This record gives sequence, C-alpha cells and structure tokens, in this order.
Amino acid sequence: STTARKSLKIGLIPADGIGREVIPAAKSAIEALGSDIPKPEFIDLLAGWETFTKTGNALPHETVDVLRNECDCALFGSVSSPSKKVVGYSSPIVALRKELDLYANIRPVLSVASEAGQKAAVDLVVVRENTECLYVKQEEQIFTENGREARATRLITERASRRIGQMAFEIALSRPRKHLTIIHKSNVLSITDGLFRETVRKVPTLPGVDGKYDSVTIMEQLVDSAVYRLFREPEVFDVMVAPNLYGDILSDAAAALVGSLGLVPSINAGDNFVMGEPVHGSAPDIVGKGISNPLASIRSAALMLRHLGYIKGADRLDTAVDQVIREGTTLTPDLQGTSSTTEVLDAVLKKI
Ligand code: ATP
Ligand code: MG
Repeated sequence: STTARKSLKIGLIPADGIGREVIPAAKSAIEALGSDIPKPEFIDLLAGWETFTKTGNALPHETVDVLRNECDCALFGSVSSPSKKVVGYSSPIVALRKELDLYANIRPVLSVASEAGQKAAVDLVVVRENTECLYVKQEEQIFTENGREARATRLITERASRRIGQMAFEIALSRPRKHLTIIHKSNVLSITDGLFRETVRKVPTLPGVDGKYDSVTIMEQLVDSAVYRLFREPEVFDVMVAPNLYGDILSDAAAALVGSLGLVPSINAGDNFVMGEPVHGSAPDIVGKGISNPLASIRSAALMLRHLGYIKGADRLDTAVDQVIREGTTLTPDLQGTSSTTEVLDAVLKKI
C-alpha cells in the first residue's frame, strides 16, 4: 500500500541524448517535494544506444533485476536509435515494457488554460494497450508469381483487452468528467476490433465490479472519425482507450494539439510497476545545448506519483509546471522562450 512505504525507491534511466538533461531535472523536482511523499531514494541505471555500443547490450540484466527487485517505480529518458538496423540492437524501452509487463501506455494531453481556474481546451488521456496488436511483429514475406506479398499478424486477446479496459475505467473514474471512449475499427476488422470493443465494454459487468463504474459514461468511436473529432472538437474527449496501433497514432496526434513535444508526459504501467517517460525522443538536434525542455519529464514524474497514489505530491508538481507555463517568462526555445533547461527547472523548483 502507498501509505505504508517509508521510502520510495526510484530507478533513474536517463539513457541517451536529452534524456540525460531532463531526467536529472525531474529528479530535482521530486526531491523538492519533501514530506509530501516518502523519502525518495534514487538508483541510477543503464540502458540505451550508448550502453549498447559500450557493452553490446542495450538493456543490461542488472538494470532489469534492480528495477524488478528493488525499485517501486522508475523514470526513463529517451533512446537514440541507429539510423540503420544494427545486428543485436533492439529498443530497451520495448524490452522493459515486456520484462516488467507494463501493459498500459498512458498519455494525458492537456493544454494549459490561460488563467488559473479556467477550463483547458484540451484535457484528455489516451490509454493505449501496449503488448499486442500489430506490435507482436509477426511479419512474413512470400514470393508469388505476381511479385512479393507481405503479411503481418494482428493479435488481440480477451485478457489484454480486459486489463487495459479495467485500467481505462479506473482512470475515467478518477477524473471529473468520467467519460470513456472506446476506439476501434470493427466495421472493417469485426473479429479483432470486435473482440477489443466488446471486452472493454463488458468491464463494468465483470464479477466484483459491483456497480463501481456506473458513473462512467461510455462511447464508442471509429478510429478515423476519432482523429477527425480530435482535431475539430478535442473537448469532447476525456479518456480514450485503444488497441496498440490506433493508440500510438492517436497519442501522437493528440500531443500535436498542445504544441511542443517537450510538454507531453507518459507512464508505462502494469499491475506491479510504473515507469514515467517523456513522450519526446532523444532530440539529437539540441542535445548538449542546455535548452531541452524539462517539463515533459517533470510531468511524467507527477504522473508516476499520481499512479502510485501520491496525489498531493503529483498535484504540486503539476501546479508548479502550469504556473511556469502560464507566466511565460521562463521557457525553453521550443516554447518560444529564451531560457535554459536549468533556468526552467529553477523556476519550477521555486513554485514547488
Ligand atoms: P528520436 O529518434 O530519438 O525520437 P527525433 O529526431 O525524432 O529523435 P525527437 O526527440 O522525437 O527527435 O524530437 C522531435 C523534435 O522536437 C526535435 O526537433 C526536438 O529538438 C524537439 N524536441 C523534442 N523534445 C524536446 C524537448 N524536451 N525540449 C525541446 N525540444 C524538444
Ligand atoms: Mg522522435
């Protein structure tokens, strides 16, 4: 339980590129929370492209062992990926999701209201299934007399759909509007998307739920029209739950609605572990210049704490970030500011 913890062990995996600039910033923000959370203990861990070039392994066993056996949660930065396929290299973040069974990718997308207390124009959460769909990567190519033919398997299971559905209902329940939209394309893919849609829909009737989700309103929407509405009237959405591929596309599209990638946080969550991760990549174009925006990572830390039940600490981080954005005087260049990573962090720390 969250209240019983004396300390909070947090694995830090900055990995590559600007991950090494923004994850330390998130660490400082967490440290500034004082007694709002159990005393944080940070454990530095290796992963990523540079780790691969040095050790031949992008995700050392030790990293996984420490996360699994010692940490309560983790923060992951970003990985550079080689421009060409390199033998033996595969993405450590994908491997980590698998090793720790982090089956949900949760991405809140929030535009900051111009004044405190005012409603944000975009305030939604994309809950993306993270283990199956086309990402099972079962592809094959066959040669026919008419040329090559390529196929991919798309896997949807009742088990994975049910657990992502449960996570989505929980998140919907925790939000003021309590509105869940199930994203699918079952007019075309009636068997796979049909199973996803039906399984998520049935979550409120599962044994033991006992009317818990009665206050959640449920809508269904085809993925194509959901993207259209996302751009036309994003305010209609609250929580969106989707199979892996649609979720991937929707969450990037939603992030585009609120400006910089440097603002958008995420968590990868399972039943026993949660890992915060800014949505942006390693940003090789700005690495080392001291101008990377730390706000997505600080928000990822907030999201991680919220998921663990440390609402007060999470709120303080989010409020501080909101205030800094709203004031607009201390921002990095991606938000049309002239400040450095450190200056933005200092502004956030002052607000905390
Ligand atoms: P990767 O392959 O690691 O994803 P990328 O070249 O796709 O790298 P991203 O990290 O995805 O780069 O970023 C896309 C663009 O957004 C880049 O121009 C980058 O500088 C900018 N950007 C991303 N994150 C941040 C940030 N935290 N602060 C400022 N700019 C950012
Ligand atoms: Mg990228």
